[in-house]
Amino acid sequence: MKPAPFAYVRARAIEAVFDLLAQHGDEARLLAGGQSLIPTLNLRLSAPRVLIDINGLDALAGIEVTGGGLRIGALTRQRAVERSEEVARCAPLIAMAMPHIAHPAVRNRGTIGGSIAYADPAAELPACAVALGAEIELRGRDGDRRVAAADFFRGLYETDLRAGEVVSAVIVPAPGPNARSAFAELARRHGDYALVGVAAHARSADGALSDVRLVFFGLDVRPVQARAAGAALEGRRVDEKAVADAQAALEEDLQPSGDIHASAATKLHLARVLTGRVLRELAGEAA
Ligand SMILES: Cc1cc2nc3c(=O)[nH]c(=O)nc-3n(C[C@H](O)[C@H](O)[C@H](O)COP(=O)(O)OP(=O)(O)OC[C@H]3O[C@@H](n4cnc5c(N)ncnc54)[C@H](O)[C@@H]3O)c2cc1C
Repeated sequence: MKPAPFAYVRARAIEAVFDLLAQHGDEARLLAGGQSLIPTLNLRLSAPRVLIDINGLDALAGIEVTGGGLRIGALTRQRAVERSEEVARCAPLIAMAMPHIAHPAVRNRGTIGGSIAYADPAAELPACAVALGAEIELRGRDGDRRVAAADFFRGLYETDLRAGEVVSAVIVPAPGPNARSAFAELARRHGDYALVGVAAHARSADGALSDVRLVFFGLDVRPVQARAAGAALEGRRVDEKAVADAQAALEEDLQPSGDIHASAATKLHLARVLTGRVLRELAGEAA
């Protein structure tokens, strides 16, 4: 299918983006990598009158190390994030997740900001942002504001982004001492959106885990942090009993709904399997 007709504007400055958003409101969409937007236009799931191409806004791209943490500009291509030494060093969870996102051709164009703004419930990066305690930087005509990733994703493709705002960066805090990360997902084919996935982050000292954050995606309308499972693991070594306790606690944390790919019961089972894998990895065993 072909998209409905639309006007196209290539913005040369962020102020022009704010002007166009103010002028066209809901009738306008930002075009970043186009890897989610263009398919929705072609399928006529969306029919905006104006596309505002932000690819010329170089200031929105790039990866910066700030006090041990990272500032990843919204227009940074997913492939650049995947290949970044800074990301591998300061946010290894993101580096682990990147190869699971689609295929290299999609990652060459797709941006981190597009993925965050689109908020697909089965997407990897929103879950990583929540697990890492990242903040989403939003830029509007009146200045910048930051929202914790845990509060940014509100519902199905729904975020805290307000009218007239642009996602400008993802701010990842410094990993801190003894930080460990692990990532796992199950997809029918490599590069497909996950049936179920989990981004995990914790501290590990003397073999015991603390501050365990297991953030699931593909199970609900937004990323879900398994708080009861995290609490069940606090201060414990990863042995069979600890894994079983965390897996049992998932019953309290997760209420997956079934879809055409898997029933709710299957998804919960897969979440338990992935939990076992990431916990062993957090503890330092081969996954
Ligand atoms: C075949 C295929 C497989 C895929 N598989 C996966 C997968 O496994 N996992 C996954 O996570 N993704 C997957 N994707 C999606 C891909 O990661 C997209 O690149 C990403 O979701 C959107 O990024 P984008 O830069 O292409 O955004 P676009 O498609 O340009 O925009 C997406 C939406 O976000 C808005 N937007 C974009 N940038 C901003 C911004 N800076 N501020 C505010 N709003 C903005 C746009 O207006 C639009 O509504 C897949 C895509 C394809 C085509």
